[in-house]
Amino acid sequence: MSLTRLSVGEASAHMLADAGALGEETIALPDALGRVLARDVVSPVSLPLWDNASMDGFAVRAVDVRGASADAPARLRVVETIAAGRHGTRVLGPGEAARIMTGAPLPDGADGVVRVEDTSTSQDIVEIRDDRDAGANVRAAGEDVRTGVVVVRAGTALGAAHVGVLASVGCARPVVHVRPRVAILATGDELVPLDGFAEVLAGRRIVSSNSYSLEAAVRAAGGEPVPIGIAPDDPTGLAEHLRAAEGCDLILTCGGVSVGDFDYTRTVVAELGGTLSLWRVRMRPGAPLGFGRLFGVPWLGLPGNPVSALVTFELFGRPLLRTLAGSVRPHRRAIPVVLDEEVVLRAPLTHFLRCVLGDGDDGSLRARLTGAQSSGMLTSMSSADALLIVPPEPATVRTGSTLRAIPLDGELGGSAVFPA
Ligand code: AMP
Ligand code: MG
Repeated sequence: MSLTRLSVGEASAHMLADAGALGEETIALPDALGRVLARDVVSPVSLPLWDNASMDGFAVRAVDVRGASADAPARLRVVETIAAGRHGTRVLGPGEAARIMTGAPLPDGADGVVRVEDTSTSQDIVEIRDDRDAGANVRAAGEDVRTGVVVVRAGTALGAAHVGVLASVGCARPVVHVRPRVAILATGDELVPLDGFAEVLAGRRIVSSNSYSLEAAVRAAGGEPVPIGIAPDDPTGLAEHLRAAEGCDLILTCGGVSVGDFDYTRTVVAELGGTLSLWRVRMRPGAPLGFGRLFGVPWLGLPGNPVSALVTFELFGRPLLRTLAGSVRPHRRAIPVVLDEEVVLRAPLTHFLRCVLGDGDDGSLRARLTGAQSSGMLTSMSSADALLIVPPEPATVRTGSTLRAIPLDGELGGSAVFPA
């Protein structure tokens, strides 16, 4: 018995319920971008290591500069210069200052750095014309990181800043989760790979664009795509192709999962010993969706329509893949957007409409549909910035209403304007 007609949230929860992170491997830090940390990283040092200057200027004792002004400057003797990478050689005594550069350790005895702009020097005397920096401009030892604390937690997808933090605490070889290997199988007698494009020009076939878009989507989500070709619409051929998915961590099929005469995917999964635990979701596009297990790993049967395939990958495949990849935050964040046009639904299903985002005058993000929303129109996806989430009710959502949208990969113009 499989669950049918679940909501998107229920379906996603079901799919993720049994999913867990795959194994671990150790990699070099420069290769870690986008990977998911498998073990907490603890710092063996405090950072900064020492009290240091946060600007170029003069290290001083606050007591020596308090009350200084343009009319009554404090006059101190400059005893040495401390560059970044150097340490002071002596304790700063009363009436003394040390020229100091940003990042250089504060000399013993000093408790602040006076900015260069408030000073003038002649020979070894510095005149300080303002006391606003008394006791200021020092970065305290350990204020960023303390020895023994976790600086990056297991389950974090590593970005540039994480890589920087790991480097600063000496983690040259982080332990990360292995990238999920994701089998991708297209199904359909009408499909050819790109090298069969002559068939397309001859008007007989279409390119299996899903094979390519899903491969790209898997890669973008941090998976390792394993394309296993295009299966024909017959049970024997389909089973033969599907066997090649054995050994992968996640199996994606697309097409043949609906109720058409040649939709064999569900039957063949069962024949190969797999299970179907969920079928059909109350959403558009993408309603005919299957999920279960095959060869001991999750199998996601995506619909064949090019937009449906990508939207359902985005909503279900990507979080599943990210969970296998070890991420503890596998979902993208949905953001509030204000509708820039009226939206009318023709069925009481949660809709995921392709939209373009732009800046509203009031600082809000405005969303406008990309145009026709047929699930066969892949260009509606390629021109979209985000998926607009429209709940099943009300059927008419007025201009100016606030909904949520899931941003897709891609760059948003700084001050985006809607296309004319
Ligand atoms: P299906 O889900 O198999 O009924 O397919 C639904 C629609 O999507 C049909 O118009 C198919 O031709 C199309 N389609 C199925 N698989 C692919 C694919 N791999 N690439 C492009 N279009 C596809
Ligand atoms: Mg088909």
